[in-house]
Amino acid sequence: MNVPRLAVIIPCYNEELCVETTVKQIFVLFEHLINSNKISRDSYIYLVDDGSKDRTWSLIAKLHRDYNGLVKGMKFIANFGNQKALLAGLEAVRRIGCDCAVSIDADLQQDEYAIEKFLGKFSDGYDIVCGIRNDRKTDSLFKKTTALMFYKTMNILGVKIPVNHSDFRLVSRKALDVMELYGESSLFLRGFFNELGLKTAYVKFDVKPRFAGKSKFNFMSLMVLALNGITSYSVVPLRFVTVLGFLMVFFGVLVGLEAIFEKIFLDNSPNGWATLVILICVFGGIQLFCLGIIGEYVGQIFQEVKRRPRYITDIELK
Ligand code: UDP
Ligand code: MG
Repeated sequence: MNVPRLAVIIPCYNEELCVETTVKQIFVLFEHLINSNKISRDSYIYLVDDGSKDRTWSLIAKLHRDYNGLVKGMKFIANFGNQKALLAGLEAVRRIGCDCAVSIDADLQQDEYAIEKFLGKFSDGYDIVCGIRNDRKTDSLFKKTTALMFYKTMNILGVKIPVNHSDFRLVSRKALDVMELYGESSLFLRGFFNELGLKTAYVKFDVKPRFAGKSKFNFMSLMVLALNGITSYSVVPLRFVTVLGFLMVFFGVLVGLEAIFEKIFLDNSPNGWATLVILICVFGGIQLFCLGIIGEYVGQIFQEVKRRPRYITDIELK
């Protein structure tokens, strides 16, 4: 195969403190990869401004001019979230043209030199190369625990996402073509690329602390991401509701039989007031819980049937 044209996609939300340094660092890596004949000279960086409220977009426009179009980008009209920004980037580089695309965060927390190993796997014939974080030293204990819980829950629910893989990955042109066939509005990319069944490799990398700015994720946005991931890739919670419902009916029949038995043979029925209240509370709670799970899926269906645009681009620099 010829030397591949690489596109590096970077989602940016209020990253004015990072974007220039990051682009420079990626170009240093590009220089090394071009000299060692691993990527072609027309490889480029694609920045997606996810509706930033700071100077991110004007910096991107400046980089586009300074680097003669080797920095390209688009600006969303509003903040659509990191997954949509990545998706837009992937679709854009497919349109523009590339042999493979790598997505990486704007704060370069992921070690960009792992991309060299990604390319090695790509030339060995892998269509998807997932970066796996070596450890979570830079994360708080809270983030570590919740992240681990998330991956474990996903795996229990039958969604095979690799543990400690965020969105640092290489995908081939072929994977991008396949992605185009999917019309779901909320694609959870980690789950998605893993489910395609394309040849996948894993590469470990070190995580660095964020070099400037603050994390753009808070507890709520991570919860939304996790719930989206679960409900768009697993029907296990739905099945769980059915099984639970069946068990409840069975249990209810047993309790009912017991009540009849007491009434007929022991004749002490006025008792049991407390039991009744407890049962009502417990069952009420379980029902609400189940309704909540169903609600999650109804929400997903609601989102999908509307067929709304997944993101709206304001400006694009090619
Ligand atoms: N990001 C985005 N839209 C958002 C939130 C985040 O495009 O609504 C980008 C952000 O600019 C960064 C990447 O997603 O490039 C990862 O975000 P961050 O580093 O803040 O997350 P963390 O590393 O703390 O999980
Ligand atoms: Mg980060």
